[in-house]
Amino acid sequence: MSAIEADSRVKNVRNYVDGGWVDPKTERFQSWNAVTGEPLASAPVSGTAAVDAAVQAARLAFDRGDWRWKKGSERAAALLTFADALAARGREISELIAYEMGKPIRVNMAREIHGAVDKLRFFAGAARLLEGQITAVTAPEVWDMTLPEPLGVAALIIPWNDPVDLAVRKLGAALAAGCTTVVKSSEITPASTAALIEVAHDCGVFPRGVINLVHGPGDPTGEALVAHPGVNKISFTGSTATGIRIMERAAKRLAKVSLECGGKFPALIMPDADLERCLDAVTYGAFMYAGQSCTACTRLIVHRSVYDRVVEGVVARTKKLPSGNPLDPAVLVGPMASRKQYDKAVSYIRLGLAERGRAVAGGDPGDRKDLFLPPTVFVELPATSRLAQEEVFGPVLLIRGFDSEDEALAMANSTPYGLGGSIWSQDISRALRLARRVDVADLWINTHYIRHAETSFGGRHLSGIGRELGMAGVEEYMSRKRICIDTRSSFHLKDWFETPEPAA
Ligand code: NAD
Repeated sequence: MSAIEADSRVKNVRNYVDGGWVDPKTERFQSWNAVTGEPLASAPVSGTAAVDAAVQAARLAFDRGDWRWKKGSERAAALLTFADALAARGREISELIAYEMGKPIRVNMAREIHGAVDKLRFFAGAARLLEGQITAVTAPEVWDMTLPEPLGVAALIIPWNDPVDLAVRKLGAALAAGCTTVVKSSEITPASTAALIEVAHDCGVFPRGVINLVHGPGDPTGEALVAHPGVNKISFTGSTATGIRIMERAAKRLAKVSLECGGKFPALIMPDADLERCLDAVTYGAFMYAGQSCTACTRLIVHRSVYDRVVEGVVARTKKLPSGNPLDPAVLVGPMASRKQYDKAVSYIRLGLAERGRAVAGGDPGDRKDLFLPPTVFVELPATSRLAQEEVFGPVLLIRGFDSEDEALAMANSTPYGLGGSIWSQDISRALRLARRVDVADLWINTHYIRHAETSFGGRHLSGIGRELGMAGVEEYMSRKRICIDTRSSFHLKDWFETPEPAA
């Protein structure tokens, strides 16, 4: 049996528990082809019992299995096999993602599949580099040290916009650390994430129960996973509202939480920016896969001296963006992933118009039956308006002018988010001065979207807590244990207690 029943027109997607594919006899939900609107996959609404089965399998694998005790080199070898197998099936999975969430295949291969393969290879290396520490300032016979240990069972809750790559950021790190896992797919993209887990299964290198997968919406599936006492760590990527809810619930039993949430990306364009490069980058950065990326560029903050050229240049480029069928290798902007996401973006466009924004590209799309939403560029929208403050997660870009650096920084830092941002200036001293004062955790200078598995990623404020990628991302799945050994034969604890000024 496999993750997906291939012979039916609508793919029948299953849970993966204790090394096997299971179909809980529950209600089912569907995912949809983002282009045609036809049903694409059917998956179980995993309730308390189905979630419990997955957590119990992960629990048993952690408590009684040997994954956590394997040498780093053995865990690394398994992750490398997983990476090669994913690379071999990259094309097929990339097409599935294009159907299920509408992300263009061109973006999928580069950012989703190749990105995920590279991250798995990084995590394989990380598994060999886990290190403890020993203090050098004790008496030489006293060894006082800390050792990293895996936290236990990790629940990995992912959104729909990168259903493979975002799963790998969590899964690779958790497996490298020695945790066992329960992945929860998004209700928009169950088949895409199931395909990733099927690759892991088919490799045959992960012991039973180390990787488990459940499908279903936030309620009941996510809620049951977060509340489960067998889960030690919750790693979530999704909206800020859901992140807050998860943190509140996890607090009841002090489960460790990391949250990767929303953003409102500012790009500061200074008068000395290389405008040709900058305008290409910010336009692609805003609208690639219809702006459904947490670090999509959403606000251009532009020096008045270049403001008109920037507006003109962005509008011209927006009109020429290769949009259409995500299966077409030339296309960069596909449909919105779901009706819900389409409606949300349209309601924000209407709100922006009501809030006195002027749409210089796109605007109210009227009544459309499909999910293709033409990119919208707004100017003159007040900085305090809701559209300027809240995350849309769609193809909507705002442009505002500034006169002084202080004004630019005040605008950049005016939202409650702190995820990504960029600065465009050829004066590196200026760029670095601003970089220290833009209140985000992920900043690009004269570029956008370049990311490496070696450097950590995350947000501050309402954009989240914790980090993914890099060794910091693996550390999220570990707990440090201190071990202190006294090898002196001359030392007696009784004397030490009785000495007025003890010296250990
Ligand atoms: P979402 O919050 O609706 O859902 C995310 C996941 O959480 C889904 O699997 C969902 O089923 C689950 N969920 C929902 N309610 C839950 C609950 N009460 N308990 C447990 N799980 C629950 O977000 P979405 O619409 O899928 O994704 C879009 C959001 O993700 C955007 O806000 C975007 O900025 C954010 N995002 C952030 C990053 C990042 O790295 N910071 C990356 C990608 C996306």
